[in-house]
Order: sequence, then C-alpha cells, then structure tokens
Amino acid sequence: DYKTEIPICSNDEVGRLAKAFNIMAKAIAEEDMRKKEFLANVSHELRTPLSYVKGYSEAILEGVVQTKQSEQKYVKLIHREASRMERLVHDLLDLAQLEGEIYPLQKIPLAFSQVIEDTLEKYEPFLQEKNISLTTELNPEIIIEADYDRIEQVIHNIVDNAIRYTPAGGNIHIQLEQINEHDCRLIISDTGKGIPKEKLPFLGERFFRVDKARTRSEGGTGLGLAITKQIIHLHRGRLHFKSEEGKGTTVVIELPTLNGELEE
Ligand code: ADP
Repeated sequence: DYKTEIPICSNDEVGRLAKAFNIMAKAIAEEDMRKKEFLANVSHELRTPLSYVKGYSEAILEGVVQTKQSEQKYVKLIHREASRMERLVHDLLDLAQLEGEIYPLQKIPLAFSQVIEDTLEKYEPFLQEKNISLTTELNPEIIIEADYDRIEQVIHNIVDNAIRYTPAGGNIHIQLEQINEHDCRLIISDTGKGIPKEKLPFLGERFFRVDKARTRSEGGTGLGLAITKQIIHLHRGRLHFKSEEGKGTTVVIELPTLNGELEE
C-alpha cells in the first residue's frame, strides 16, 4: 500500500526501470513501517512498567498503604518493574549497538566446544532447581573465529529460553558437529512446550512473543532472539528454528569454521 507506485506501460528499458523503482519504493515503505512499529512497541514496553512504578509509589505517597508489611510489598513491586525497565533499556541499547555495528566484534580463534562448556557450567544450579537434565555431544575439534562474549551471549539466550519454556523433568540436548569443510552446526533442543508452526517465521523479530502476557510476566524482554540473530549474522552464520507444539523446540546455528589448530 505504498503511494509511489508507477504504472508500467511498456516492456522496454523505461518499463523495467519503472518496475525496479516500484520494488525499491516498496522496500523503503516496508522498512518505514517496521521502524514505526518498533517505536510503538518500545514505547508500549516502557510505558507498562513505568505506569506500575508510578501507581505503586503514588499509593505509598498518598497513604493508601497502611501497614509496614504492605508498604514492603509495594516497594518490592516497584523494584521488580524498575528492574524490568533496566533489562529492556539494556537490551535495546545492545541491539542498537549491534545493528549499527558501533563496536567491532573482537574476533579470535576459539575452541567452540570450550566456549559452550564454560557457558553451560553457569546453568547447573538452575537446571538442578528445575529438575531439567542436560546432555551434550560436542566435537572438540571445531574452531571458529568469533567474539567470545558475543558467542557466550548467544548460547546464554538460547539455553535460557530452553530452561524457561521447558517444564520440570525435561531434557535439553546440545550437539556440535562439523557439517562440511567450511561450516559447523550447533543444535540446541529442548522438550518444552514448543512453538506453533505458524509462529515460527516471526521468531527473532524484535518483541515477538508467542504468549505476550505470560512471557512478559516471566521476565523476558522479547529481544533475546533478535539480539542472537544479529550476533550470528555478524559472524556470517545462519540461525533457524524447528518446533512442534507440546513436544519441544530446536534451535540450529550454522557458523563458518577455521581450518587448523588453535595456537596455545
Ligand atoms: P523472551 O525474552 O520473551 O524470551 P526471546 O526473543 O528470547 O524473548 O524469545 C521470543 C519468544 O519466542 C518467547 O517469548 C517465546 O514465546 C518463544 N520461545 C523462544 N524460545 C523458546 C523455546 N525454547 N520454547 C518455546 N518458546 C520459545
């Protein structure tokens, strides 16, 4: 529905030019739409916790809250909402920096399996707490040229989701394999609630959540996978998702590998 479309009246050079112009105009209009939508989402996401903070603090200030105990409860709620805003602002800034390529990535040769193992160690307490088992099958020979912190962030975002959306007693399986001479594949699958097929194409879009109200209350910003997608893109990799509702979700990442040994 863009307004600049020109009618194509011939098949010659002018006609082809008009066609190319229309394609370009449409792409610009779509980008414009996405920006407007993003801005609307950001203001909504910020306004919600902000209005809670304002409301709860007003209740305290106006003396509506009678006991010390309930005052404590309100202060806790204010703190929770402020923390959510903090996470949101942090993720927004991070995404903007990644998309604007403001800080170049610090790419160095890394033993991929080592990065994965180091990151997973931090999850042991959460896995135990939720009674989720973790199994791995990692090829130790795979070397990637990558930014350590950013790759750690990718694994963190995906494993964090896997834990969050998998009920107690479930399993998370992580596999790292070489797929051809130049690329490796990291597969992270869970036995969680899964994602409806029709929603899969939207995964990785900013603020896309399958279940808006619930996931927001569970603390996610809705930007984790958008950040993940951008980091993978900056490493010349690919990211895609497979899922079956009620059965589980699989996240697949493909990255170029380096040939040869790591320097000690
Ligand atoms: P959030 O902060 O909401 O987790 P993400 O960008 O990390 O944001 O994920 C976007 C949405 O994708 C989530 O809200 C959730 O609905 C869905 N999702 C992501 N990972 C999984 C998973 N492993 N199982 C089920 N749903 C998932």
